[in-house]
Amino acid sequence: MRVRYSYLPQQFEHPEEIFDAIRAHLNTCRLTLGPEVEEFERAFASLIGTRHAIGVGSGTDALTLSLRALGIGPGDEVITAANTFIATVGAINATGARPVLVDVTPSFTIDPALMARALTPRTKAIIPVHLSGEVADMDPILELAGRRGLPVVEDACQAISASVGGRAAGTMGLLGCFSLHPLKNLNVWGDAGVIVTNDSDLNARLRLLRNHGLTGRDEVEILGYNSRLDSIQAIVGNWLIRQVPEITNRRIANAATYDQAFAALEGDIQLPPRRLGVRRVFHLYQVYAKDRDGLLRHLHAQGVEAKVHYPIPLPQQRALAHLGYRPGDFPQTERQAASLITLPVDQHLTDGEVRYVIETVTQFYRGS
Ligand SMILES: *Cc1c(COP(=O)(O)O)cnc(C)c1O
Repeated sequence: MRVRYSYLPQQFEHPEEIFDAIRAHLNTCRLTLGPEVEEFERAFASLIGTRHAIGVGSGTDALTLSLRALGIGPGDEVITAANTFIATVGAINATGARPVLVDVTPSFTIDPALMARALTPRTKAIIPVHLSGEVADMDPILELAGRRGLPVVEDACQAISASVGGRAAGTMGLLGCFSLHPLKNLNVWGDAGVIVTNDSDLNARLRLLRNHGLTGRDEVEILGYNSRLDSIQAIVGNWLIRQVPEITNRRIANAATYDQAFAALEGDIQLPPRRLGVRRVFHLYQVYAKDRDGLLRHLHAQGVEAKVHYPIPLPQQRALAHLGYRPGDFPQTERQAASLITLPVDQHLTDGEVRYVIETVTQFYRGS
């Protein structure tokens, strides 16, 4: 049996409705912004539960523009998690600010107990990352940020529809950032991102920032960017956004099946903590595996396209050498890079495929 990682062929198996909408849209020749983008922004704000949603060019831009909207730039420091996708750090760097990394908990999210030490007078914002669809431990983060008067920007790129205690990822800080990249839970046919907020001033500022700072055809209010959600991508997003509850529920159900089965492999497979009250949405299904690389080889040989997110600890990437971090500085992040494995968990897996993944993992450790 072969269990593929990418489900995009299944997801867009019947694109006729999308093609029809795009063809109709082409007749209008309104290829930037316009009603399709507005429709998507309304649907997204309603899905997440915020007053505003601003469509932008990518998840990375969502983060960069958010920091820019808060006035962050050269000379400032922004705190984020040491285990994240490079884009979080890239976005901080793009503003001219310095990324300051903090190690994570066994749940892959920034460790609030270590944050205070990373604060300096230059700290201007905190970006918790809801990695893999987990939710960062927001209460102590918000408490510390509140005490220091620091804005919190949530990197919710992997966490659409995740929540903790009924509060949605992306709504607890001042701004929440999402990605619609093809590999994310809600995806379009290329790059796109969304920022959500309840703050009307930030909403207005972000709408300027994404569109050259233009207030109309001729007047420029502030210096901005060209980072709009494409109208055609908004059409794809409008088609798919209705399916988010179903997509999310299927992923959660597949993960529950894995969790239950892997409990029997204790000692070989260790589940990350399943904190009460957290609705994790499993953008990635990751477990700690003994002899992770051996398991990965075995799965590949048996046709299961497992992955590793991320094999090189971010603080040790060559591009970040100037930050001066050393091996040993981020023990949890390093342990995760060495021992986490990612199994397919998406909404298009069949029950038979999920069972085959479980059997193949079990076979590796127990020989049957
Ligand atoms: C995907 C991702 C981003 C960036 O999103 P893009 O749309 O690819 O630019 C940022 N942060 C995290 C945690 C991500 O997974």
